[in-house]
Amino acid sequence: MVAVSRISERVAAITPSATLAVDARAKALRAAGEDVIVFAAGEPDFPSPAHVVEAAAAACADPRNHRYTPAAGLPELREAVAAKTRRDSGLDVDPSRVLITNGGKHAIYNALATLLDPGDEVLLPAPYWTTYPEPVALFGATSVVVPTDAASGFKVSVEQLEAAATERTKVLVFVSPSNPTGAVYPPEQVEAIGRWALERGIWVLTDEIYEHLVYDEHRFSSMPVLVPELAERCVVVNGVAKTYAMTGWRVGWMIGPPDVVAGAAALQSHATSNVADVSQRAALAAVAGDLDDVVRMRAAFDRRRVRLHELLSALPGVTCLRPEGAFYAFPSFEGVLGRELAGHRVDTTLALAEVVLEEAKVALVPGEAFAAPGYCRLSFALGDDDLEEGMARLAKLLA
Ligand code: GLU
Repeated sequence: MVAVSRISERVAAITPSATLAVDARAKALRAAGEDVIVFAAGEPDFPSPAHVVEAAAAACADPRNHRYTPAAGLPELREAVAAKTRRDSGLDVDPSRVLITNGGKHAIYNALATLLDPGDEVLLPAPYWTTYPEPVALFGATSVVVPTDAASGFKVSVEQLEAAATERTKVLVFVSPSNPTGAVYPPEQVEAIGRWALERGIWVLTDEIYEHLVYDEHRFSSMPVLVPELAERCVVVNGVAKTYAMTGWRVGWMIGPPDVVAGAAALQSHATSNVADVSQRAALAAVAGDLDDVVRMRAAFDRRRVRLHELLSALPGVTCLRPEGAFYAFPSFEGVLGRELAGHRVDTTLALAEVVLEEAKVALVPGEAFAAPGYCRLSFALGDDDLEEGMARLAKLLA
């Protein structure tokens, strides 16, 4: 007899988020008294800025914030996001084109739900963030994976995109700075990809959540700013989580053409209604404020980036590009595979991550979660001391 799933095929096909799963497992081990060092979820170790917390506390005390807001978000927050976008990326948008969502992930979900029909194809350069393909499949579309490698700095070329595109291609997912690779595309490459998408009539979903986290000579550039004609076929996704150390507040947004924003807002009005009012007030304090806290946190991430890269590069069998942005290092462990570590034969990075967690009490995310077996992702958004201790344990295990 054929086993029939009790739950829908669409939902049964979803793989739980690997980044959140590793993070939850590490945190559970910690709660059970284990001394685990967590390089897993991309979550800044800093508290949210004091003025943000104060704004939220004040909002909590005011009964006006105990109510529904418009489903698309507080009008003043939509305005502040439009102003912040003008200031930070140079994209000039009317607040009516901003939809406040429950984090960046929800913005991606809303955007793809609004754009995709069954049978559509989505170009997904790999390694890709573990969440992107799931809503694509949920809405009946297909992810067409476009692999990149370390030789190109994990950057996809127009030629590769052209080779992967078909008449069914509807959307390209683009992210720079990149999760999981830390790659930052130079402006000329962002523009070339944007021009190609424009000519091809392909939508671009551009994830700008790491816009402020760039290092050395690398600079963030926004595709619809470099290719203004693309704005009518482009959805920008962003949020407060990474920039302001506000992962738990769950406030993000999407910016898009009026029909897309209206459609996504209608969807949201039935799915979640508004984002928590107090969280929206906190996000308002963040985006309406200056970038001083961001600059301070970026300096710490930069220091950790340099150190982590140095320590990873010194490990036997490990090679690592220097991260250019975000807060992820993405080393290859190919040279470690096939070895025996603490009595376990390790043939995949999935198995390696398991052994590293069990034996060294260090949590990292295996590349399998990002369509890149042979690699692992290490977040450097953790404290300096933890970074040193975690890498010392890894070095000992691999020695
Ligand atoms: N975006 C972060 C990460 O990749 C947070 C976890 C998640 O939402 O996947 O680690």
